[in-house]
Amino acid sequence: MNNVIIIGGGPAGMIAGISAANIGDKVIIIEKMNSCGKKLLITGKGRCNITNNIDINGFVENTPCNGRFLYGVLNNFDNNDIIKLLEEEGVKTKIERGGRVFPLSDKSQDVLNALLKVLKRLNVKILTNTKVEKIIVNNGAVEGVRLDSGEELKANKVILATGGKSYPVTGSTGEGYNLAKELGHTINKIRPSLIPLVSNEEVCGKLQGLSLKNVAIKLKSNDKVIYEDFGEMLFTHYGVSGPIILSASAHLIRYKNLDELLKENKVKIDIDFKPALTEEKLDLRILRDFSEVKNKEFKNSLDKLLPQKLIPVVIEKTKINPYKKVNEITKEERFKIVKILKCFEINIIGMRPIEEAIITSGGISIKEINPKTMESKIVKGLYFAGEIIDVDALTGGFNLQIAWSTRIYGRTLNYK
Ligand SMILES: Cc1cc2nc3c(=O)[nH]c(=O)nc-3n(C[C@H](O)[C@H](O)[C@H](O)COP(=O)(O)OP(=O)(O)OC[C@H]3O[C@@H](n4cnc5c(N)ncnc54)[C@H](O)[C@@H]3O)c2cc1C
Repeated sequence: MNNVIIIGGGPAGMIAGISAANIGDKVIIIEKMNSCGKKLLITGKGRCNITNNIDINGFVENTPCNGRFLYGVLNNFDNNDIIKLLEEEGVKTKIERGGRVFPLSDKSQDVLNALLKVLKRLNVKILTNTKVEKIIVNNGAVEGVRLDSGEELKANKVILATGGKSYPVTGSTGEGYNLAKELGHTINKIRPSLIPLVSNEEVCGKLQGLSLKNVAIKLKSNDKVIYEDFGEMLFTHYGVSGPIILSASAHLIRYKNLDELLKENKVKIDIDFKPALTEEKLDLRILRDFSEVKNKEFKNSLDKLLPQKLIPVVIEKTKINPYKKVNEITKEERFKIVKILKCFEINIIGMRPIEEAIITSGGISIKEINPKTMESKIVKGLYFAGEIIDVDALTGGFNLQIAWSTRIYGRTLNYK
């Protein structure tokens, strides 16, 4: 029997605890907050997008940073396994848009309760309000951990599952990186990912609060399209946010010379407000709308086509006199409206701080982790699980699946 200490009681730590205890190991989870799973509770806006209903290749494709590293662990424990585990504990699930899997109750608390219930049944000890300050290593193998109280706990296996550096109020403050660094591990550059983007365009402030559902975006760097998406976005006082912007950020952060490109105003987002219509069809649609309000002023002619907040901004961009009668608007002017609606360009100058990121990109270098067992290649008996590893994915339940799957801790096993 192994004595296993798990540092961090997030989703990765809890599921690792279940896996280890299930094969008879003696397990202690050490969590520095007053309870486990604080971040889990806020996932999916409190609804917890547990995983995605996609195949393993799909998971890898949706993990732009080091996705292929996950093949082994996904083959061992995938979306069906976590769904099965939760359903057996009474958490029914449902599938929503884009294959996103949620608890039927829409409550992340139910997911957390189920995990805690299994941990209790398996006699896993959970020490809350307790922080690990050091991993004790002797002759290249783990021997235990030292707590903030100075007390030392013995273990022949330690699983480091301290998460990333975002939303620090949940406990994820990045301490795990230092614990691993002290033992000789390389920490690849920590950056925010799935993060809102900052713009210096006044229009963002004017459109603040405007949420748009079916829009298409093109993220461009130096006029080259690096990412395209379709879905929901939001204007904020600092720039743009919402699901498709967050996904775009995950591609942007990996772009070389990003800081220079941002400084030189070479990163743009083109928004297509009417992706279902070609330019020609949109022109016809505007013509039809105009024919119904021929004698109105231009500023009062777009109500049917656009949300109220967007109208003055679009009108300003067209530079057409807002008081001009609709029947005086020329074909060229109409074409200008079409162009703006199909390609509304926003300049991007940066990202919001890491504290606001859904995910931390970077972390423990995968080169130093055995992909089959998640064991450190540097320290015997040291394992990694979850967001601390330099693997990160897009939105859609993929990041939690990384936490669920990397709980493997050297074994091929079912949780029961
Ligand atoms: C707002 C938000 C919404 C999200 N929604 C989703 C979603 O719907 N679907 C999805 O797939 N992903 C989502 N994510 C991402 C997901 O929450 C993370 O990928 C996941 O929580 C990572 O799990 P983890 O166990 O590796 O780390 P964490 O959840 O960060 O847990 C790490 C734990 O370690 C503890 N800890 C840290 N240092 C120490 C120490 N020294 N000693 C003891 N304990 C320590 C922390 O207190 C924390 O409890 C969301 C993230 C955010 C911020």
